[in-house]
Amino acid sequence: MADMKQFTTLKVRLYPTPEQAELLEKTFGCCRYLWNQMLADVQEFYAATDLQYIPTPAHYKKEAPFLKEVDSQPLCTVHQNLRRAFLDFFRNPAAFRYPQFKTKKARRDSFTTYCRQYRSGPTVLMTKEGVRLPKLGLIRAKVHRSPLHWWSPRSATVTKTRSGKYFCSVTFGYAVQEPPAPLPTPETTLGLNDSLSHFYVDSNGHRPDPPRWLERSGEKLARMQRRLSRMERGSKNYEEQLQKLRLLHEHIANQRRDFIHKESRRIANAWDAVCLRDTDLTERARKLRGGNVLDAGFGLFRDCLRYKLERQGKAYIVLDPYTPTAKTCHACGAVHEALPPRARRWTCPHCGADLSREINGARNIRDMGLAEFLKQKTEAA
Ligand SMILES: [Zn+2]
Repeated sequence: MADMKQFTTLKVRLYPTPEQAELLEKTFGCCRYLWNQMLADVQEFYAATDLQYIPTPAHYKKEAPFLKEVDSQPLCTVHQNLRRAFLDFFRNPAAFRYPQFKTKKARRDSFTTYCRQYRSGPTVLMTKEGVRLPKLGLIRAKVHRSPLHWWSPRSATVTKTRSGKYFCSVTFGYAVQEPPAPLPTPETTLGLNDSLSHFYVDSNGHRPDPPRWLERSGEKLARMQRRLSRMERGSKNYEEQLQKLRLLHEHIANQRRDFIHKESRRIANAWDAVCLRDTDLTERARKLRGGNVLDAGFGLFRDCLRYKLERQGKAYIVLDPYTPTAKTCHACGAVHEALPPRARRWTCPHCGADLSREINGARNIRDMGLAEFLKQKTEAA
């Protein structure tokens, strides 16, 4: 559903005519000249004012009219590259050298031109015969792999090796459409139900518990709170204990977030749809008071699950809280109105099925949620 941008670069060997080779050399030369001029001016300006300033290419064209003979894009690229080189250097001098002057003999020559889209077409084009570049025209090239027709050229970098060979790397961008997620079925849908003693219970009977270390942190927290309550308020010991307690709170919050992200990621990757009941979180917290250290995380868990599913084009289905998911027998569909509110297991009076309250509820949440979701889909279509 979502459009994603991807890039591919094709590199080809260029075979320029003598005239084109001359213009290529000129372009390399202009880029080198401009780089060195700009760098010298940056240093001079910095020495005089303590400020970093790089003049634009236009500034140099009056004094050096030969700059006008070549494509102006590579000159802009020189300006950007020098800016980037200074930024990198100032951000991390250990990893990046201070920008250096370019000598004619140094390394390989190169320039980059960015593609502009005109009504007459893009300024950079790769065909079976070669590469078309601004001012240079079509340069013959050995093209092994043609770009696909929906790729759009972004930039072209021409390089010359020390041995005198010319190469051109053209970068293309294109949108990739992710295939829409398949319509969920009962086999690929998960129902999640609230649980009194676990983080949740799902329609397959899976009952995840918070990891053991998270539980231990919770026990430690309770111990520390008890100790604090015995101390004299405002005393030095009290303040120290309070600080320790704050740190532990923070630590638990991090552990909890970590657990929630992993758990929601696991579910969102494994299932095409997830159904939940729209529960009131304060109501849930009241019911589960003192239950486990993850109570506070259930809202975050639902949010994580929703966005992780939606990013993959999958369904996050919320059931109305009044749907009778607990009292309905999953085996036969009969509604058992007289179900005692605290019963953890019950036997269906209609078909005799022996049911776990939480798992039966999770299965009903899955099936009722999925049915509602598919009904809305068909109505919309
Ligand atoms: Zn039944």
